[in-house]
Amino acid sequence: PLKPAYTGRFAPSPTGPLHFGSLVAAVISWLDARAHDGTWRVRMEDLDPPREEPGAADRILRTLETHGLYWDGPVLYQSTRLKAYADAMQHLRERGWAYDCGCTRREIAALARQGLEGPVYPGTCRQGLTAGKSPRALRVRTHDDPICFNDRAQGEVCHQLASQIGDFVIRRADGLTAYQLAVVVDDAFQGITHVVRGIDLLASTPRQMHLQSLLGYAQPAYLHHLVVLDHEGIKLSKQTHAPAVDDETPVENLLKVMDFLGLDGGEPGAGVGEVLARALAGYNPPDSPLPSRERSRG
Ligand code: GLU
Repeated sequence: PLKPAYTGRFAPSPTGPLHFGSLVAAVISWLDARAHDGTWRVRMEDLDPPREEPGAADRILRTLETHGLYWDGPVLYQSTRLKAYADAMQHLRERGWAYDCGCTRREIAALARQGLEGPVYPGTCRQGLTAGKSPRALRVRTHDDPICFNDRAQGEVCHQLASQIGDFVIRRADGLTAYQLAVVVDDAFQGITHVVRGIDLLASTPRQMHLQSLLGYAQPAYLHHLVVLDHEGIKLSKQTHAPAVDDETPVENLLKVMDFLGLDGGEPGAGVGEVLARALAGYNPPDSPLPSRERSRG
């Protein structure tokens, strides 16, 4: 059989149970995949044990099922993928695209300009570790050719990584694989063609595209959706104490999600399957323009 042209994913971090905002994210990526007759995968981003909550991964999966959000194939746990991440790092290192950095946060802060997301790494260890320093983080080299993509919801986004972000970390000083690397290795491994996720990750995408091109991976299409904000305008999250989704009221929860998305989910008397089917019937996937790789502005 032909492989489906669409493979999407929902990639929660098991730092706590799903809250309303993460349920919205799950529903959008599910709707977009189903509207394309695509495959919808779940990937558990359990890469940062100190931030994780015991039992959260199972609880997230149960919440998805309770809400009728069934995924295709096995769940991929990032904690089982450390070898693949190490191989990717080795590949980058051998080609001179990744290098050890011995700088502490404080040393970087003292020299760095502010960039898009905090201090831009000043490149201290680009030519090798300073004498007397031991390796801490592993960084990937960046350049300033604009990296652009056409987001399905946000339009064109271009970053010049070297000046806006700097050489960024792919293995943290505590030895853990950085999100940016793991997500790229696994999106490729799982054959993800369409990434649908919150707009809070929009600024990560050019970094991920940079890694995709260094590692020779295909580039997925991207859709970054609006996220749910609390009354102070801050994204709902565990840090802001967003309450867990109540698994006892899945239909009500889904109807609230559809309300947020401007979709008709029908009446409270229905079952979760009916609410999802009705919303799916009214869902118009935003255009999926062909991904653009690195090209110049204008
Ligand atoms: N695990 C990330 C999060 O929970 C999402 C990663 C992604 O969708 O690329 O925010």
